[in-house]
Amino acid sequence: MFAAVVNAQQTQIMEFSEPFAGYAKTLINQPQEIVGTLINSKPTKNQSDIVHAQHHLILARAYYNLAYPQKSLDHAQSALSYVSEKQQAWLYHNCKIAESDALELIGNPMQAMDGVNAAITWAEHNKHPKMYLQALYSRGIIQTSLPDYVAALSDFQESYSLASIDPDELNKAHVATMLAQVYEYRREYQLAIPFYEEAVAAHRLHKADLNLSIALYGLGRANRGIGKVELGKAQLQESAELAEKIDDLQGVGYALKELASIDMLEKNYIEAEVKLKKAASIFAQANNPQMNFIFMMLLTELALETNKTAKADIYFQQAKALFNRNEMSIHATDYDVLQARLLFEQSHFQAAYKILEQAFERHKELQNAESTGQLHQLRSRFEMQLAQQENEVLSQKNALQQMQLKNEKTQNMQLILSTAFATIICGLLGIMVFRNKVHKRKLVKLATRDDLTGLYNRRYALTLLEQQMSLATRYATNLCIAMLDLDFFKEINDSYGHVAGDKVLREFALLCRESLRESDVIGRIGGEEFLLILNHTTSKDAFKVLDSLRTKMSELSQKAGLPEAKVTLSIGIAQYEQNDNLENFMLLADTALYQAKNNGRDRVVVYERNNTIETSS
Ligand code: GH3
Ligand code: MG
Ligand code: MG
Repeated sequence: MFAAVVNAQQTQIMEFSEPFAGYAKTLINQPQEIVGTLINSKPTKNQSDIVHAQHHLILARAYYNLAYPQKSLDHAQSALSYVSEKQQAWLYHNCKIAESDALELIGNPMQAMDGVNAAITWAEHNKHPKMYLQALYSRGIIQTSLPDYVAALSDFQESYSLASIDPDELNKAHVATMLAQVYEYRREYQLAIPFYEEAVAAHRLHKADLNLSIALYGLGRANRGIGKVELGKAQLQESAELAEKIDDLQGVGYALKELASIDMLEKNYIEAEVKLKKAASIFAQANNPQMNFIFMMLLTELALETNKTAKADIYFQQAKALFNRNEMSIHATDYDVLQARLLFEQSHFQAAYKILEQAFERHKELQNAESTGQLHQLRSRFEMQLAQQENEVLSQKNALQQMQLKNEKTQNMQLILSTAFATIICGLLGIMVFRNKVHKRKLVKLATRDDLTGLYNRRYALTLLEQQMSLATRYATNLCIAMLDLDFFKEINDSYGHVAGDKVLREFALLCRESLRESDVIGRIGGEEFLLILNHTTSKDAFKVLDSLRTKMSELSQKAGLPEAKVTLSIGIAQYEQNDNLENFMLLADTALYQAKNNGRDRVVVYERNNTIETSS
């Protein structure tokens, strides 16, 4: 027995041993069960350090999946106390990833970075793709919190290409959810939706209820974000029901909060109240003071909205008891404004004014310390801040209107107060203006981007081509275009379905972005037709680049989850000459493409002005 233990200590493990390997498989879909089992089967003192470490590591992961960051961190650190990097590198790095995940969830993304970077380096060096993927995915999440969206997208895109579709593993659907979340944070709901949809479809297929509930929550929010309120509502409703079914109470709470805020906007106050109360009791049980506070605030607001001042006071007192100005600084302005509104309704005008004055000062300070604020805002399941600010502005406008009604009675106070409210509103409008700018940028994006792939759309790609042509004329530089058309794409749709076809198109877009230079422009100009603009490039160089892209197509079907499909690409290239206009330049590339198709597809053809044509296949 003793000898066996010593032996086990000396062997480097590179995967979980039983029974932990079995638990690891159900971590993603049944974390609750894992916690239940492991809590009741603690290893004994006689068992090896490796057993102890794995026990705590699996618990850390399970708690993480259930969104209990502190418990997850405690177990990750317990696990680490049993292993060293030297003796058990694989186990050690796994524990470090778990620790990083928990640190990020707690709100310390900076501290989380070293652990995952070390794991990535180790996994690369030791050729351990599974750990590499896990660490890369974790780093993406950390980047999202920092926030560095570009880095996050890059990590998630790579993770996406590496992930399998195995439902027991960290798979494409999970990565798709995170990609969607990043787009959602960037308020690019249109780009988020296809990824959420992909995740929903995959989790639904595998009956992965917890993850399905999370993806539906995101999809519902995104659809609401683009104005499809009814659809969003139905998806949030389903998310709540699923979460309830599997006892993910916090999941129920988050979905209810979203549904309640829709109710409030639609002035369905009674329904909103039922949902908010239910959600509040859930978060009270889950011992989540921050969320509980938010619900008490919402209930206060609801009561004020329906002129129930006494009730509002009761809710506000509960919010007050939970409020901690240091830890909840992001909510401080909302809190102060709400308190002022309540005091105003209770005719404590002087006090209301004072609070507003202080709030305005603090709000300015808060704006200066924006980075921490941003950090909080960026946690999807933990943030609703921006939506709330929007509600806040609306309700402040209401408050202002109400004040104006009371004007006759309290003329003097009214004047002071409306000035104060106006000041606050100006502050909040500042946020609105900022948000409007973001919104405008988003609209520009929508007008220039293709929804499915995120590439430039036809109209914008042609605008860019015109610009490039005039630059090439003015500076006498080389310019090439290429027309790309996927071969027999109709058959892909016919054999695997339209959704799979869409997936291939998205993967193809990713492949192009990865393979081409930053300065190259790529647009989707037809269903499965793309235009590529390569500036400062001769047809010879364009040929090289595109032929290499063509050969990379063999990886594409794998990435799109259709390993048996053969997706090939035909390409026609033309080099710009002065005096070419847009139509004839495009026609040259089109002619070359037509030639490529005729010569048997899966090849690149360059249009030569003297009518000789180079081909490859
Ligand atoms: P080839 O280019 O080799 O001549 O054959 P093809 O089948 O690719 O060409 P065709 O132009 O006949 O058909 C293009 C197909 O592309 C038709 C349509 O089903 C599919 N397609 C176009 N847009 C989309 C899209 O957004 N999503 C999906 N899934 N399929 C699309
Ligand atoms: Mg085609
Ligand atoms: Mg076509």
